[in-house]
Amino acid sequence: MKALLIHGGSGSFNSPEEYSNHRKGVREAVESGFSVLAGKRSALEGVLSAIKLMEENPTFNCGRGSVLTLKGNIEMDAAIMDSDLNAGAVAGLKDVLHPIEVAKSIMEQTDHVLLSGEGLEEFVKIMGFQRDKDLLVPHRLKQWEENTAKSKNGELKRFGRAAEIAARSGCYYSTVGAVAIDDTGKLVAATSTGGMTMKAFGRIGDCPILGAGTYANNYGAISATGHGEKIMKLTLCRLVGFYMERYPAQKAVDLAIEEARCFDCECGLIALDRFGNIGIGYTAKDMSWAYIKEGKEAVVF
Ligand code: ASP
Repeated sequence: MKALLIHGGSGSFNSPEEYSNHRKGVREAVESGFSVLAGKRSALEGVLSAIKLMEENPTFNCGRGSVLTLKGNIEMDAAIMDSDLNAGAVAGLKDVLHPIEVAKSIMEQTDHVLLSGEGLEEFVKIMGFQRDKDLLVPHRLKQWEENTAKSKNGELKRFGRAAEIAARSGCYYSTVGAVAIDDTGKLVAATSTGGMTMKAFGRIGDCPILGAGTYANNYGAISATGHGEKIMKLTLCRLVGFYMERYPAQKAVDLAIEEARCFDCECGLIALDRFGNIGIGYTAKDMSWAYIKEGKEAVVF
C-alpha cells in the first residue's frame, strides 16, 4: 500500500489567485512526491521530495517564501518523524533553502532530536549545507511592510496577538506538511514552516515540537498547520495518533478537530493510518491539501 497526503497550510484565502496558486502548488508536490515514493519505494523519500518542492515554491510559507518575523528576518522550523520513532527537527533555522533536509540529517546523523541556535548553526556548517541568502520574496516583504505599519499604530504588539490579528485580517498561512506510507508499512510525517507572520524573533512554533505539529508512530503519521501556540498546548498531532490506535484516520482527525474547536484553535490536520486510510480536517476557513493513493488519480482540494 502506497499513499501520500500533503497540505499547503490553513487560514483564509484572500484572492482567487492565492487559492489557485496553492491548488497548483499542492498538485505539483503530491505528483512529484508520489512518483518518488513509487519509484524508490520509500515513504521517507516521497515525503522529502514533496516538501522540498514546496520549500522552493514562493507560494508557500517555508524555505523560499517564508514569512518574516517582527524584526524582519526569516527563522524557519521543520521536523520529520517515522513510525519507528526516528525523528529530527530544527527551530529558528536561517538561510537554508531546505530546512527539512537539515531535520533529516539530525535524525540520521545525531543522537539528538531538535537543534536550535548556535548549535544548529554549527551543525549546518559542519554538515556542509549550502547557505541561501535569497529566501525573501516580494509578497512577503509587502506583507511585512503592511504589518509594520499596523504595529506602529498600535494594532500589532511585540509578543502580542499576532495570530489573532492575522486571523481577523483574513490571512492564509501556507505552512506545508506531508504524510506517507510505503509497501513496507513504514509511515513518515514531515512539516516545514517560516512560522507565524510577525512572530517575535526566537519564537518556536508547533512544527518542530514532536506530538504538537508533527508526529508518527506505528499507528499513523500526522502533520498540523495553524496557530502554533494553541496546537502545542493541545499536542494535537499526538492526540490524532492516540485516536488512531482505535479509529481510522478520518475519525481520529474529526475527534481532534472537535477538541481544537473547543479551544478556539485555528488549525488544520492531515493524517494517514497504518492501513493507508486518509484523514483531513480543519477549523480554519480554508486548507489546501492533496493526496494520491496507489493506482488512483490525484485528489486535490
Ligand atoms: N503552525 C505554524 C506555526 O505556528 C504556522 C502555520 O501552520 O502556518 O509556526
